Amino acid sequence: MGLVVQKYGGSSVADAEGIKRVAKRIVEAKRNGHQVVAVVSAMGDTTDELIDLAEQVSPIPAGRELDMLLTAGERISMALLAMAIKNLGHNAQSFTGSQAGVITDSVHNKARIIDVTPGRIKASVDEGNIAIVAGFQGVSQDTKDITTLGRGGSDTTAVALAAALDAEVCEIYTDVDGVFTADPRVVTKAQKIDWISFEDMLELAASGSKVLLHRCVEYARRYNIPIHVRSSFSGLRGTWVSSEPTKQGDKQVEQALISGVAHDTSEAKVTVVGVPDKPGEAASIFRTIADAEINIDMVVQNVSAASTGLTDISFTLPKTEGRKAIDALEKNKGTIGFDSLRYDDQIGKISLVGAGMKTNPGVTADFFTALSDAGVNIELISTSEIRISVVTRKDDVPGAVRAVHSAFGLDSDSDEAVVYGGTGR
Ligand code: ADP
Ligand code: ASP
Ligand code: MG
Repeated sequence: MGLVVQKYGGSSVADAEGIKRVAKRIVEAKRNGHQVVAVVSAMGDTTDELIDLAEQVSPIPAGRELDMLLTAGERISMALLAMAIKNLGHNAQSFTGSQAGVITDSVHNKARIIDVTPGRIKASVDEGNIAIVAGFQGVSQDTKDITTLGRGGSDTTAVALAAALDAEVCEIYTDVDGVFTADPRVVTKAQKIDWISFEDMLELAASGSKVLLHRCVEYARRYNIPIHVRSSFSGLRGTWVSSEPTKQGDKQVEQALISGVAHDTSEAKVTVVGVPDKPGEAASIFRTIADAEINIDMVVQNVSAASTGLTDISFTLPKTEGRKAIDALEKNKGTIGFDSLRYDDQIGKISLVGAGMKTNPGVTADFFTALSDAGVNIELISTSEIRISVVTRKDDVPGAVRAVHSAFGLDSDSDEAVVYGGTGR
């Protein structure tokens, strides 16, 4: 029996009872003969609460200090979990991300892992301990400051440790039974997916299915680490994310034509109004945004009104970066040259994902028909080989997701999807 890395999300360790339940599960894996490394998130909505607190003392908190604050959340759960495991008669040691050897770049609040040197973790499990690691955090190679990996980053910690420790599998325990064809909180008829390829999962995650963070899937694909997403509240088999379909008994699992529908209401739209329609304008707008270290998602440029020679450029970005983007553009208004800026945070994105799209030309038309039948107006469109996304009004999102899910025959005709915990925040 080899080493397994298990990750427990915030909803699985939301209170003392949850921590004791998770401790029992970890001990069970150890009793079954595995070496166990468990990565934990902060309890319940702790991270959100700490961010709210920080914003009460400073509207734009300093990145370094915010990271110091947020990493405390995961340290609370790791220590409590180690205590609960010891109470069950097993040895456990907790480690911060830095102690676990998670080395990152120095970009606060969304650092990237550049190396993992898990010597202390390896030594601890070799001595017979269960190692508990605080997720979502590391230490900067350059500045030696504590960093965080961005929201949902404990998923990435788990996969990165699984790769560095050459684990058999990375198990992601959460509050639903696996990856579904849509968010079960929005579509009660969503179906659990038995197996999904890294490619489709990457698109779903990047399009807002927060059951797995897209950086974690990227990492797993690069190092070919199979992920098993499952519930910490049930004993059911969950969803396998890997390069090749896994067999279920004698049945060979097939690649689905359409994997699912994702939605995202965490983005906002910035429109730069009155941009001179000449070469170099888009370059200077997006250089300004890039220099502020902001990642953008969709971009659209309207045709210029011939009489004015001016055009509008819209792009979407995480709401959390909205203030920074507006400030950066305003600061460079003179050099870029535009009339005004519009900021709209009442948007939502709906995406349909599936490898079958490559060979089925009807999918795009069916997608737009489903949206139009649901009375949903489309504001922006973007596509990749295996994904099509639209931006709509935020209020239209739940209805649109359900309409698309039904139109593509994804509704389950048996059980309703179970959500065991969490607040969906
Ligand atoms: P954790 O605290 O375990 O990290 P998250 O809240 O980050 O949990 O992720 C689990 C949540 O992801 C679920 O409760 C569900 O609402 C949401 N979710 C969104 N899309 C999907 C999907 N396609 N399949 C399953 N869950 C999804
Ligand atoms: N606690 C962090 C968050 O809420 C990291 C995580 O849960 O993965 O984003
Ligand atoms: Mg998560």
